Amino acid sequence: MSTASTGVDTASHCPYCALQCAMTLTRVSTPVDVTLSVAGRDFPTNRGGLCKKGWTAAEVLSSSDRLTEPLLRTEDGTFRPASWDEALDFVAAKVHEIREESGPDAVGVFGGGGLTNEKAYQLGKFARLALGTSRIDYNGRFCMSSAAAAGMRAFGLDRGLPFPLEALDDADVILLLGTNVAETMPPFIGHLEGVRSRGGLIVVDPRRTPTARLTDDGAGLHVQPAPGTDLVLLLGLAHVVLAEGLADLAYLEARTVGLEKVRRDVAAWWPERVQSVTGVPVATIRDVARRLAAADGAYVLTGRGVEQHADGTDTATSAINLALLLGLVGSDTSGYGTLTGQGNGQGGREHGQKADQLPGYRKITDPAAREHVARVWGVEPEIIPGPGVPAVELLGELGVPGRIRALLVHGSNVVISAPDAGAVRAGLRALDLLVVSDFFLSETAQEAHVVLPVPQWAEEEGTMTSLEGRVLRRRRAIDPPPGVRDELWILSELARRLDAPGRFDLDAEAVFDELCRATAGGPADYSGISYPLLDSGAAVHWPYPTGSTGTPRLFRERFAHDDGRARLVSVRPASRPEPAGVDGTLTLITGRLLEHYQSGTQTRRVAELAEVHPHMEAQLHPVAAERLGLTDGDLAELTSPSGTVQALVRLSPDIRHDTVFLPFHYPDLESANLVTRSDTDPISGMPEFKRTVVQMRLVQAN
Ligand code: SF4
Repeated sequence: MSTASTGVDTASHCPYCALQCAMTLTRVSTPVDVTLSVAGRDFPTNRGGLCKKGWTAAEVLSSSDRLTEPLLRTEDGTFRPASWDEALDFVAAKVHEIREESGPDAVGVFGGGGLTNEKAYQLGKFARLALGTSRIDYNGRFCMSSAAAAGMRAFGLDRGLPFPLEALDDADVILLLGTNVAETMPPFIGHLEGVRSRGGLIVVDPRRTPTARLTDDGAGLHVQPAPGTDLVLLLGLAHVVLAEGLADLAYLEARTVGLEKVRRDVAAWWPERVQSVTGVPVATIRDVARRLAAADGAYVLTGRGVEQHADGTDTATSAINLALLLGLVGSDTSGYGTLTGQGNGQGGREHGQKADQLPGYRKITDPAAREHVARVWGVEPEIIPGPGVPAVELLGELGVPGRIRALLVHGSNVVISAPDAGAVRAGLRALDLLVVSDFFLSETAQEAHVVLPVPQWAEEEGTMTSLEGRVLRRRRAIDPPPGVRDELWILSELARRLDAPGRFDLDAEAVFDELCRATAGGPADYSGISYPLLDSGAAVHWPYPTGSTGTPRLFRERFAHDDGRARLVSVRPASRPEPAGVDGTLTLITGRLLEHYQSGTQTRRVAELAEVHPHMEAQLHPVAAERLGLTDGDLAELTSPSGTVQALVRLSPDIRHDTVFLPFHYPDLESANLVTRSDTDPISGMPEFKRTVVQMRLVQAN
């Protein structure tokens, strides 16, 4: 690794969410150490703005509990420091032994949507070539997989926003479905100012979130359906569009297929029936459909609230169907998109971390894709394993006889972020080998046999791909602590010890160049991109084939299916949602807070962020609280068939009477995912995070 320069500002991006706000990092030297200061940098997405997570991101670099040497589990269950050679020799020998005894699929890999493109790519290559395993997947499965599957099905391509973020500035109507951008990515709301001034912001959320409050004072409309009824609401909107002659029939004729089936489906969802399921008044359903249809520029945007369901792909599909019926997709002034959450949630799902995928968003089952990637890797296509299983299924195989005996985890804290987290922890404890690469002893690392310390965002080189498919440079502004080693180095060293075929470069730029070659000709084609191009400051949106200038706006003339047409897909609700309110039950929805990012491993270490909500708080309506005998500040217990958690009761009129909200950033008894369910969407593998029926009772009065 090169030595970080001094006295020079470094242009980079935030380590957290997919908005990837631009930052200037400045080295601050004192007699005892060197730290970084952070300032927002003008950029089309954040326009100089940062949220409080971004402002405080540099503090995490100098946390006192950074890992700086490998750790090995001892006989008595504690950790002891080890040299890198000892740790990697141990891992390689154990992996070799397990593969010999139980076959390559006995070793699994779990990646993350926060890893750089280079690391995500190399992790997929390492799994397929060095381990020979099909068992690789990543935490993006909990985040974007249903919207990604819906986009693939409808358009033949999945890029979160198929248009630049700035396009929203000119919209007349924006329908935000299940996304709380005011807390998850605050600078985003700068792009909503125009639509608010025109009274056209429509927010669909069971909670009156800070984003929903942006519709106050004539800025728009807040629609508050019962949790888990989004699919029915969207069918109702489509019904009104077709019944009232608001569909763009010329567009549908020219650019889509599948209208007649969808017409038959939505015929059954007249507004009165939709009201009976969702609780949304008939007049509101008609009003939303008419506003969308009347707008010159209209956008439909989905987030995790409607996607994190066991029918998440169909729900996202129904949002796409609505956008297609109105002729929005591929227009220069309108569109459909999904708001990616994790920092590299977009790039993380393009380069081979997914069980069913090779770099460039290629299908692992496609013989031509296998041949192309094998050529770049310098191997025969036959040695690349076939598809594995999605994340929840993979975690369900941990420690199961005949299944996974060893797991390598990179950039993920599954003990907090996976559904039914108690079962996940039990699976990790049943493994013969758990290796976790992290910069802290995260809750998952605490279960490991081997912990490998890695650099953080400002200590590494690489690229990230933002929510609008924009490829960005992450730059090293400061050296990592001595003793820390980059994941590219770790994978290279393990590959060497395992006699892996192929080449595993150490240098991020060399890996990126290889990644670009591997994606050439694929759906997510990066072949025309290079570090010098990115360093020139050019706006780089994929697909960016060699010789092109990239694609800020997709689908203007054709969709990515062979016939160039989008698919309207027939969607029907599988069943009515489980009713909450019976026997005092509530529907639990989980989500994020302004102060925290994902499992909180980083943000819980920043005092300014942690002190705002030191403990998990359950948002509950006063009417529900009275029914349950709870008051503000009480300690309560929430129980589902998966497990039990504890939270402080926080009374709020901003939530429905039948619903309780928990943030999922906390550990131990406050880990919301101890009660969430492990059933998944059959198409995408997305777990059900937003429709868990729970009992709630008093543990200790305030
Ligand atoms: Fe921007 Fe997201 Fe970072 Fe906040 S967390 S500064 S919104 S990239």
